[in-house]
Amino acid sequence: MLRKITEQIWNLQVEIFNGRANVNCYLLQGEKGYTVLDTGLPTESMKQAWLEVIEKGFSIEKVVITHVHQDHVGLARWFQEKHGVPVYVSRESLAEIEEYARPDFPERFFQLLRKYGAVRIPSRLEYQNIYDFTPDGVFDEGDFIRLGNEEYQAIWTPGHAHDQYCFYQPERKIMFTGDHILQHISPVIGLWSAYEVDALSLYLRSLDKIEKYEVDRAFSGHGDEIKHFQGRIKDIRSRHQHRLQQVLTSIEGTAKSAHEVCVEIYGKEYNISQFMAILTRCIYLETIGKVERIEREEQVVFKVTKDQSLSPGKIVTEEY
Ligand SMILES: [Zn+2]
Repeated sequence: MLRKITEQIWNLQVEIFNGRANVNCYLLQGEKGYTVLDTGLPTESMKQAWLEVIEKGFSIEKVVITHVHQDHVGLARWFQEKHGVPVYVSRESLAEIEEYARPDFPERFFQLLRKYGAVRIPSRLEYQNIYDFTPDGVFDEGDFIRLGNEEYQAIWTPGHAHDQYCFYQPERKIMFTGDHILQHISPVIGLWSAYEVDALSLYLRSLDKIEKYEVDRAFSGHGDEIKHFQGRIKDIRSRHQHRLQQVLTSIEGTAKSAHEVCVEIYGKEYNISQFMAILTRCIYLETIGKVERIEREEQVVFKVTKDQSLSPGKIVTEEY
C-alpha cells in the first residue's frame, strides 16, 4: 500500500513472509525525482509493488539503504540493473555487502550457529545473489545526505545490524530509524554477519545516541509510525533488562548452551531470530561479568559467574 505521510514523503508498505510481517519503504520527493529509502525483499510481489509505483508516475532519482539486511537492500541491484537508478550505502554497508557476497560466507555463518549449539541449521542461505553488485556511492557517519529535496544527517546506530543507519532532518525533526527502533516489536539483535561481537552492548549504546535527538515524527522499517520516540526507546531498554534477567535465571545453577536457553524460553520450535536474540544476550551478560563461557568439544556453554547475585534489578543501565 502506497500512502502519503507528509507533504513530500510517501510510504510503501508491503507484506512479507506470507503476511506474517510487513516492510516499509519510503519515497522522498525532490526536484530531480524521488529518493527511495530501502527497497524491500527481492520477491516478485515486491517488484510488482515497485512497478506499480513507477507506473503511477514516480520517477526514481536514487536509492539509499538504511542497512543491508535482505528485506531492505533486496531490490537495490534490481533498481540499479533494470532501471539505471544509482544506489547509495554507508561505508559499513559496503563492507557487509562484500562479506555477504563471499562464497565462504554461508559456511562461516553456519559454523557460528553450530558453535553455540543451534540444531535446525538451514541447508543454504536464501537470496545470496542480491549482494552481487557494486553501490554507486558511499556515505559516512555524520555526513549530510540529500533525500528528496532535503538534507538528512546519517547517524550510525550499530546493534540490530552492524551497518544500521538512521537519518535525521533537523528542521522538520523527522527521523528515519531503519530497524533500530520499531513501534510494535523490539528489534532483533543478532550476529548476522557471523562476527562474534557484543552486539547488544552496541545496540544499547546506539539507543542512548539516538535518544538525544528532538524528534516529531519517526518512521521505521516495519510496522507503524513510532509514537512517543523517547518513550519507545525507554520501553525497548526495559524490555531488554527483563529479557536479560530471564536468561540469567535460566542458567542459574546449570551451565547451558544458547540453544538450551532458547528451547527453555521460546520452545523447541524456536526460529533463528530467537536463537540470535538469546546468543547476543548471553554474550552481553558475559561482557558485563555476569556469566562466563566454558568451551566443551568445540561447543560453548554459559554459566553464571561465581559471586554474582541474581537479585532482580542487578542488571542496571549504567553497565553499558
Ligand atoms: Zn528489517
